Amino acid sequence: MLCKDARLLEILEKGRNGEGITKEECIYLLEFDEHSFESSLIRATANDLTRERMDNAGVILGQIGVEISPCKGGCKFCTFGEGHTKFESFSISDEELDQKIRDFTEGGDLYGLYLMTMHDFNLDVILNAVEHAKRIAPPQTQIWVNVGDAPYSTFVELKKAGVRGAYHVCRLREGIDTNLDPKNRIKTMENLLAAGLELYTCCEPIGPEHTNEELVDNFFIGIELGCTQHAVMRRIAVKGAPLYSRGQITELRLAHICAVLTLALGRAKEFKFMSIHEPNQIGLASGANLITAESGANPRDCNKDTKGNRGWSIERCRKLLYDSGFTGIRLGDESIIPLTFEYLETTHSL
Ligand code: SF4
Repeated sequence: MLCKDARLLEILEKGRNGEGITKEECIYLLEFDEHSFESSLIRATANDLTRERMDNAGVILGQIGVEISPCKGGCKFCTFGEGHTKFESFSISDEELDQKIRDFTEGGDLYGLYLMTMHDFNLDVILNAVEHAKRIAPPQTQIWVNVGDAPYSTFVELKKAGVRGAYHVCRLREGIDTNLDPKNRIKTMENLLAAGLELYTCCEPIGPEHTNEELVDNFFIGIELGCTQHAVMRRIAVKGAPLYSRGQITELRLAHICAVLTLALGRAKEFKFMSIHEPNQIGLASGANLITAESGANPRDCNKDTKGNRGWSIERCRKLLYDSGFTGIRLGDESIIPLTFEYLETTHSL
């Protein structure tokens, strides 16, 4: 027998059956070295679970950062953090926004489009962006937002404008590596759920210094709140950001963490998708089936427009899903279109 660890096999069985696994079981799995045979088993189990659950279809999102300012969030890993950013305030024009929306949605296969602001944001600016997106994007693309902490009334307005859900996180070491209060981050998630929006969240930004206990506590914030999408994202060492010197974890370690979170999500009642950010193939073979293309402002990029720089294009995302063995792309109306070599050819994604 290649694996004699009875506890590991028992946890994997539970996870694969969709029963979910406990915090203690997550920690047990996270303690295996990511280069080990056991890590490969954990990743294979999560991969199998996701592909069966999601009909082997991948999901592509697009995110457009609509404005930049020295952000009072002050996150020590972010290129826009007040106190260390080199950026001045800037908003994309309506014409640029329209073009970016068209770039992402003209192929008709984008599941959801995120519109992103800094922590402090003007509701009229985001409502204007939503209105443009609703007008240009096809009906099968959902419109989502990624905004700062906000009250219930803000999310009621966004829902009225046609927004389906919002990305929000309580970051690892929130309040220590950021200027924001973890209580307000969680309250905002509760506000958006109370307003009838779906919650998309993430365990982020994972760095080499985070303990397995910290990761697992963070996983369960989204699980216990009832997130629709969960994710893992490693911290990118952005030159000039205060946490640059702490370095980065590898994509392999991120994939191991992705697999454990996927197994933990079995019983999360609203859960639909597992995302890995930034997109990579090991993650897509370890439980993730959702990746995000990016344009405009990006907290991990020193360029004002991440398109053509750090941000992935939708063409590249299609090809990565294909190369990762997904045979379909799921659209925002939950239909699935075949993902084939010919499809890549006709969408100029080769
Ligand atoms: S990560 Fe977001 S909240 Fe933090 S500084 Fe950057 S833009 Fe602001």
